[in-house]
Amino acid sequence: MIEAAGRELGPKAVVTDRAEMEPWLSDWRGRVHGEAPAMLAPATTEEVAAIVRLAARHRVPLVPQGGNTGMAAGATPPADGSAILLSMRRMKRIRIVDPESRRAVAEAGVILANLHDAANAVGMRFPLTLGARGSCTIGGLTSTNAGGTQVLKFGTMRSLIAGVEAVLPDGSIHNGLSGLKKDNRGYSLDQLLIGAEGTLGVVTAVALRLVPAIAARAVAWTGVGSPSDALALLRFLEARSTAIEGFELVPADSLELVLRHVPGTRPPLGGAHPWHTLIEATTVDPRVDIAAEIEALLAVALNQGLAADAVIANNEAQAEAFWRIRDTISEAERAEGQTLAHDISVAVTDMPRFIIDAKAEVERRFPGVIASGFGHLGDGNIHFHVRAGDHASPDWYEAEGAAITRMVDDLVTAAGGSISAEHGIGQLKRAELERLAPPGRIHALRAIKHALDPLGIMNPGKLVP
Ligand SMILES: Cc1cc2nc3c(=O)[nH]c(=O)nc-3n(C[C@H](O)[C@H](O)[C@H](O)COP(=O)(O)OP(=O)(O)OC[C@H]3O[C@@H](n4cnc5c(N)ncnc54)[C@H](O)[C@@H]3O)c2cc1C
Repeated sequence: MIEAAGRELGPKAVVTDRAEMEPWLSDWRGRVHGEAPAMLAPATTEEVAAIVRLAARHRVPLVPQGGNTGMAAGATPPADGSAILLSMRRMKRIRIVDPESRRAVAEAGVILANLHDAANAVGMRFPLTLGARGSCTIGGLTSTNAGGTQVLKFGTMRSLIAGVEAVLPDGSIHNGLSGLKKDNRGYSLDQLLIGAEGTLGVVTAVALRLVPAIAARAVAWTGVGSPSDALALLRFLEARSTAIEGFELVPADSLELVLRHVPGTRPPLGGAHPWHTLIEATTVDPRVDIAAEIEALLAVALNQGLAADAVIANNEAQAEAFWRIRDTISEAERAEGQTLAHDISVAVTDMPRFIIDAKAEVERRFPGVIASGFGHLGDGNIHFHVRAGDHASPDWYEAEGAAITRMVDDLVTAAGGSISAEHGIGQLKRAELERLAPPGRIHALRAIKHALDPLGIMNPGKLVP
């Protein structure tokens, strides 16, 4: 198959050099390692179709990969070298950025930050962003239905996608880029492909919704007494302003870790608080003084005891510094020691209690560990991370990790939540999905997979149990 691909696509599209492939054979966290005899890097949709047809003919599985920033090892090939890596990074053309129709069409390998810049250049904005924006791709974001920090106002990738172009497992091209507002010709292939993690086809381009560029933003940091105070503060702000688009919860110990391990970070507030929130409000109207609006609202909130202290960033550099604290929590945890990450969701109203109760239960059952929940409180989605603590053995992750994760997943399931809020299932959560999902759901996943990919060539061993 590799020779045939070389003949059809030319040498530029075929990488077999081990050193060149090396960075792409392990997942972003460096925990899962795979092997592949080659990495194919098509530059056009037709080349992707040619590769998929070859894969079907030779019965060779393909593992699509974008920026390889995924958190569930979905883009890591199997360790036995039985699959070929399909790098989408050469498909990096932004085909359309049109302020009139408020649409962009970006190929799968376009880096998110580059789409942000292209939209901004025409006075528009693609309103989804996340910490990996300098590396993650539109194809990966689509295939994981990524979320990020602006979901509160704009939703996940799914709500920002107007259509998908993809190569299906039989090598045919599905073109959903026309961006029809109404199209009820039965099952939506576009919707099936969003969040499919490369198991139903290869996303080659995506039509995306744009919104007007921001005229100004206000970024605030508050100290609050508890997650339920934080949620009350969010509800207070939402009831009085439509400008709130980011609301992140940060516990004191996450802030302390960042200050200890990330150079150049400083505490936003003078005093100590058990919990913090990072708030972002934006306006598209240059006449609106958004900082004054948020300042006035926070003054009332402080008076009502919804927050203990608050500060608004004076300038963009300070705003970025506040966001840097939030964005580097995982990095600081890694510098501190072994950490188990869980990306979970429960109903928004249940989240404050879940954060407190789950932390207490996990720390009671596994003495010495430190559990903490941070992140997208307003979406009912937090990153519930469990750190090894000072006295853990070097093999703590391997020895206790699975049992801790089972407990967290059981607590989430008992609360009616999801064991994967935004990171997908990949290979890391497949067994837990099978253990905890209702049989009907598993049956439907398998039936859809088999119907579209009967040969099982699209990213086998991922997502579908
Ligand atoms: C610092 C950091 C912060 C992050 N923050 C967030 C966050 O806030 N919210 C969030 O949701 N995620 C977050 N992530 C996770 C990650 O950025 C997203 O999941 C992103 O969508 C992955 O994009 P990628 O291009 O790197 O995809 P990859 O990691 O390369 O692939 C992810 C999955 O998509 C499949 N895939 C990739 N491209 C295609 C394609 N063209 N066609 C079909 N399948 C494809 C792969 O096979 C794999 O299953 C973060 C990651 C990092 C490192």
